[in-house]
Amino acid sequence: MNENKVIHPVLIVGAGPAGMTAAIYLARANVKFKIVDKYAPGGKMNITQLIENYPGVTNMTGPDLAFKMFEQVRELGVEIDYADVQKIRKDEDHFVVTSDEGEIFAKAVIIATGTQERKLRIPGEAKYTGRGVSYCAVCDGNLYKNDAIVIIGGGNSAIEEAVFVAKIVKEIHIVHRNENFRADDSLIEELRNSPNVKFHLNAIPTEIFGDQNGVTSIGIKNIVDGSEETLNVKAVFPFVGSDAVTDFLSEFDVRDEKGFVLVDHEMMTNVPGLFSIGDVNKKVLRQIVTATNDGAIAALAANRYIKKK
Ligand SMILES: Cc1cc2nc3c(=O)[nH]c(=O)nc-3n(C[C@H](O)[C@H](O)[C@H](O)COP(=O)(O)OP(=O)(O)OC[C@H]3O[C@@H](n4cnc5c(N)ncnc54)[C@H](O)[C@@H]3O)c2cc1C
Repeated sequence: MNENKVIHPVLIVGAGPAGMTAAIYLARANVKFKIVDKYAPGGKMNITQLIENYPGVTNMTGPDLAFKMFEQVRELGVEIDYADVQKIRKDEDHFVVTSDEGEIFAKAVIIATGTQERKLRIPGEAKYTGRGVSYCAVCDGNLYKNDAIVIIGGGNSAIEEAVFVAKIVKEIHIVHRNENFRADDSLIEELRNSPNVKFHLNAIPTEIFGDQNGVTSIGIKNIVDGSEETLNVKAVFPFVGSDAVTDFLSEFDVRDEKGFVLVDHEMMTNVPGLFSIGDVNKKVLRQIVTATNDGAIAALAANRYIKKK
């Protein structure tokens, strides 16, 4: 073993709300740790227009809440380092984490890398993300009370979000590439009974159009007869799936068949010392409040783990 290498007691990978909460709890418990993120701290909060459902927060932009959490972390004397983690393995009694900034060593690792939405990969999507294109209708649907919006997808998350948002917005279009939905029948039934919902089946989106204020319309194409149509909408919500960001965990058997991390009630995986929190875990609700919950639990559990060692 290289005698000069620094082994951190704990390493947190990801500085979204889950990772930053773990940092706050570890810092307040006087645990020495390192936290890294490949982008800016805040994670998905940085692409959220408005947050109205986090207790104590009634009307704040996502980046503002991200900055408040970041300030709290900094006031506790914690520096967030920038590193893109690419591989994690265990070497005797500690973890070796390979990143684009070199190797990092830690007795315990807390994974907090969230999920990545599958993209539509059509023109206009990237340009209007955050200006009408949003990957969370439950979060952003409220912004379009008097408008028409479109939801792309036919799985449970697409239809659940559609049922919720149909009660809020003026008109809602569902664009789905098949004839049948993969979502639960009861949800479909509820949606079919909503007077403001229009279905476009066997259809795919082709391009998102907009102006300086954001999205104005979307082009769709029927894949059976080839006909094309333009829908005038102010928002596009793609729900074509999201993937856990966990490729770097391939050394371990800690993920379900979809790549989400499996943990116990202390947020620990089946690998002692390897914890996982937030959206990256297999769970029923992916929100800021559940991410911060996980972060607090994992920080205390990781502290107990390294003390026992
Ligand atoms: C558009 C939108 C709106 C939303 N609105 C709301 C809302 O109003 N209310 C609410 O409660 N929830 C909302 N959510 C959900 C909420 O944002 C997430 O549940 C929450 O951010 C999850 O936190 P997390 O820390 O687990 O992951 P994330 O916030 O995704 O953070 C993960 C972090 O890990 C970093 N990372 C990833 N891979 C690596 C790597 N290999 N190496 C280093 N770092 C890495 C990322 O850069 C990122 O900073 C919204 C989500 C979206 C997409």
